[in-house]
Amino acid sequence: MTGREEILQLLAEYDRYVLGCHVHPDGDAIGSLLALGLGLENAGKEVAMVVPGGVPATYRFLEGTEKITTTASLTPEVIIALDCADRERLLLPEAVFATGAPLVNIDHHISNSMFGDFNHVLPEAAATGEIVYDLLADGGFAPDKRIAEAIYTAVATDTGFFRYSNTSGRVLSLAAGLVADYGISPSRIAEEVYEERSYDSLRLLGEVLATLRLAAGGRIAWMAMSQELMAAYSVPLEETENFVNHTISISGVEIGLFFKEINPEETKVSWRSKSAVDVSRLAAHFGGGGHARAAGCTIKAPVTQAVEQVLPFLHDYLTSAGQENTAGEEKERA
Ligand code: 5GP
Ligand code: MN
Repeated sequence: MTGREEILQLLAEYDRYVLGCHVHPDGDAIGSLLALGLGLENAGKEVAMVVPGGVPATYRFLEGTEKITTTASLTPEVIIALDCADRERLLLPEAVFATGAPLVNIDHHISNSMFGDFNHVLPEAAATGEIVYDLLADGGFAPDKRIAEAIYTAVATDTGFFRYSNTSGRVLSLAAGLVADYGISPSRIAEEVYEERSYDSLRLLGEVLATLRLAAGGRIAWMAMSQELMAAYSVPLEETENFVNHTISISGVEIGLFFKEINPEETKVSWRSKSAVDVSRLAAHFGGGGHARAAGCTIKAPVTQAVEQVLPFLHDYLTSAGQENTAGEEKERA
């Protein structure tokens, strides 16, 4: 569903915008927020780019992220949510919503709940950054090098640096254009995202990999990170976000799971798929969502209990006819 024309009008007509993205922001959330924010600012508008928890260290190399604040410093005429599948995952101060300004929802999650007053949701887009790129171009907002780097980072991180099944010809040519036209450096961006990890995060990964197990005859791989493990290493949660990819790197594994005990009563589960299994629907069974090949949910239980809830459910699913209900062609991830 798309409200492209209305949104282009909203981007053209007003002067004050508050932009937000999803909790635990990733490269697409930060990149698309920054690209749209800088584009509007270049057009002379007042913009508050708000990430209440602050910008994860991994993405602070992006020029312009220093403008991102933890609270909104202005009263918006328009509120814009980026890369956010539902209203609950949009983190903005309540005072922003209390203004009654219209809420614009720009996203590519197949599970998007259409929570905005205006919704521009394109599940076929590889990243929200791709949608923002088109909006900036169609709205006559000239990109600059900072915007080009932000868009590149958004599409690169959401496609696993052009490896996942959402890597379309469109996204490759868009990225090529950003490199050719703005002189951005793909190798530098890849280094910033993947080669600036802390020693402790790698040691924590080693501990987490030691918990790796197979289930359902090798079709599932899962691993878990307890509170004790997290406490033993002072690693921010976002530095563990790529750990899950090790699970589906195993030959024959169709579904990979990573259980993170974020507090004694809550476990966040990251789901990955490299088969026809749509994990966004499976995660939805536990109140989560996401994409066909990358999804997440939070279970109100300690990690061992969360594992005990998810694994039997998945085992039944894989060994029953229920599998046909969620099988299908899918193309998205992250
Ligand atoms: P990750 O496992 O990297 O945190 O998330 C993978 C994908 O699933 C992302 O696109 C993310 O937005 C989505 N996702 C993660 N956790 C949740 C959740 O609790 N609810 C919903 N609706 N989506 C989630
Ligand atoms: Mn995204």
